[in-house]
Amino acid sequence: MHNLWRDEEARGLSGIDLLVYRSRLIGRDTGLVVWGGGNTSIKHQESDFRGRRLRVMRVKGSGSDLKTIRAEQFPGIRLDDLETLEQRDSMTDEEMVAYLVHCLMEPGSSRPSIETLLHGFVPHPHIDHTHADAILALTNTLDGRKHAEAVYGQETIWIPYRRPGFTLSREVAQAVRNHPKARCVVLEKHGLITWGQTAKESYDATIEMNTRAEQYARDRAKGKAVFGPPARPALPGSGRRAVAARIAPYLRGLLSGRALEGGGEPNAETARVVLRFDDGDDVLEFTSSEAGPQLCLAGPATPDHLLYTRPRPLFVDGQAPVDLESPEGIAALKEAIAKGLQKHAAWYDLYFKKHATGKEPRLDALPRVILLPGVGMLTAWKDARHTRIVADIYHHTIGVMRGAQGIGEYRSLTVKDTFEVEYWPLELYKLGLAPPEKELARRIALISGAANGIGRATARRLAAEGCHVVVTDLDGEGAQTVAREICEAQGLDRALGLRMDVTDESSVASAFQETAVAYGGLDIVVSNAGMAHSSPIDRLDLEDWRRSLEVNATGHFLVARAALRLLKEQGIGGSLVFIASKNVPAPGRDFGAYSAAKAAETQLARVLAIEAGEHGIRVNIVNPDAVFQDSRLWSGAVREERARAHGVPVEDLEDFYRRRNLLKVRVLAEDVAEAALWLASDRSAKTTGCIIPVDGGVREAFPR
Ligand code: ZN
Repeated sequence: MHNLWRDEEARGLSGIDLLVYRSRLIGRDTGLVVWGGGNTSIKHQESDFRGRRLRVMRVKGSGSDLKTIRAEQFPGIRLDDLETLEQRDSMTDEEMVAYLVHCLMEPGSSRPSIETLLHGFVPHPHIDHTHADAILALTNTLDGRKHAEAVYGQETIWIPYRRPGFTLSREVAQAVRNHPKARCVVLEKHGLITWGQTAKESYDATIEMNTRAEQYARDRAKGKAVFGPPARPALPGSGRRAVAARIAPYLRGLLSGRALEGGGEPNAETARVVLRFDDGDDVLEFTSSEAGPQLCLAGPATPDHLLYTRPRPLFVDGQAPVDLESPEGIAALKEAIAKGLQKHAAWYDLYFKKHATGKEPRLDALPRVILLPGVGMLTAWKDARHTRIVADIYHHTIGVMRGAQGIGEYRSLTVKDTFEVEYWPLELYKLGLAPPEKELARRIALISGAANGIGRATARRLAAEGCHVVVTDLDGEGAQTVAREICEAQGLDRALGLRMDVTDESSVASAFQETAVAYGGLDIVVSNAGMAHSSPIDRLDLEDWRRSLEVNATGHFLVARAALRLLKEQGIGGSLVFIASKNVPAPGRDFGAYSAAKAAETQLARVLAIEAGEHGIRVNIVNPDAVFQDSRLWSGAVREERARAHGVPVEDLEDFYRRRNLLKVRVLAEDVAEAALWLASDRSAKTTGCIIPVDGGVREAFPR
């Protein structure tokens, strides 16, 4: 492990600024902390709001991440108030949380870390606490204590596993006082605590202790195949992605309330999940190994991981020995997934019954990590940010198992300890504090023609309601720009930008495959991509006619067909929204190629509504009129031709359309997006085969 401390960077920093510097160094190494794990602190003098000098501890706030932490994310705790707690015999987590609020230097500052007492009771000015992989590899073995002592001798204090909280904090502090020569504490199946008189001393100790553990693990692993010989060959990369894309919608359906074959209606109450595919080398090695299926059942490496990955993953095994990519291979894999989920649910039932005290609300039995030998891993949770966190953490779980197997034999939390952490009242309380989910949370939408205009406005609107959006366009770079903006506004991985040519069957297939790999499936399609061509029919080129039909009719067919296949596979319904045109019910002159193709699109959508209804898939249409705003449909030539067709000067065209409608309004892309949102959402759950005009009111275009 590298020591990243640079004197030239740290010079001039002191107090909390130096704490921020040190914390970020620790946060930069994912071998030390991942996704908000670990915490750091400093004890020093500060002035309170009346100018009195006090002893204050600054400790990481709950929910912040060391990698990016800022000074204000370290709430201050008055040490005189905190230290007296050590005299108590016991304290519940709830009492501790309530008490700490009274010790805060700034009312309303972020809540201090759940491990605050550990920092407060240990009497050293600088403390680092990490759930480091190398330390877990040492402690999560059959003879963890023996290995820790072999590495550190008298320099460490070994503390047997106990759930974090008041008792553990007091135990650690007493042990540190009783062993003044110790330089660190190793917490069984939990992590490492180091300290120092200076920030650098504490950081250096963290790095040194980890480096020594890594070296020990390397030495002990020499010549060992830690996961045993490979038992199942992995597919090549493209094959893995193709299989994942075929499997993911089926799995997503099952995890999101779809009933098994012959098992009745889908359960609408079950929250949907989003999936993520990952086929990292470590995942492939682990899932393909002889030891993988058993090892993964041993459980999480540390309490911190458990809250993300749940007690066990689902290891999908028992596939028929056929080519995985063949239809028989896919069918066998699906069967194995369905059986595996049933077995997993039965195991979870027993686990809950055995350990529940009667006070806990039962959590769902769904696995968050699904391991597919030869293919990779799918992670499942409420949104793409969380599926990424689960995946990242499972990579570290594999790393810890690798290290532990090299040292000795991997051991995890006992099943009872696992239950205690999973049903930790404090964690359940935190879950209860989460803000209500947005309307389209856990949903996935694919939108065509979304680099600008109506498509872009719709992508932004759906994303603002919590939806994951796949922004597709013939202009791939434009699509990626829109996706990037959405991720910046709405959060990590919430949008994906792809080039998709709606007239090209293989381009459409590949966009749907990428969608399944990135998010696991689909709920909403907004089929919007279109082009305009204006010309009187007697002067219309065959090529221009064909091109309009290609994009404005066939393009919708190709997208709709791919969507329908995927949605049926998934089995939890869906919503398709077609952006057509006011020109369908009320065609204008010189717009033959456009209007005829848009009429075909409309009729396609209506037949689709008839065919898809029995699968809970709704199909609806929006008819906008004259949406000029940043639209490529209204390019210079089309604008001039339409002005000529209506007999108005080109600069008056927008105004002409505005005056033509009953409400005398300009129709904006956002207005169309609003209708698309309503049709995409469950608010229109009982509506299919419908047409909504967004045209300011055009009498000739009233749907009938
Ligand atoms: Zn901890």
